Amino acid sequence: MKLADTLPAVLDGIARAARTATPVPDPKTGRSRARTACTRCGGAAAWHRTVRGRWILMEPGAWPLTVIPAGKRWRIAGDGTAVNLGSTVPSDTCRISHFDICPARPAPTGSAALLTLWRRNSRRGAEHD
Ligand SMILES: [Zn+2]
Repeated sequence: MKLADTLPAVLDGIARAARTATPVPDPKTGRSRARTACTRCGGAAAWHRTVRGRWILMEPGAWPLTVIPAGKRWRIAGDGTAVNLGSTVPSDTCRISHFDICPARPAPTGSAALLTLWRRNSRRGAEHD
């Protein structure tokens, strides 16, 4: 099975579908603004507070749980809190942090899916290429 060959298309399809999702209020500002932009790469993302009280930039969209490494899987609770799933498997999909695939940061290691998304974001930031 060549998962790596089909993964980019699968992820792009999911990301496309996610872009049509209904916006939710930005929990950091309290305003009805679903998206902000990463100050490092300009990519679209949304701030969420974690259960530990720090803020994390979440990438829009949801990804198949099976392609995202444990520890990088997140869920957004009903109140907007970002919850790291660890190794629990509560559903088929999960959210990921923009920090893991921000092209202004070093390429992620150990995950073909995260590396694919990091490369996608890198291309988006260099459209003139
Ligand atoms: Zn970024």
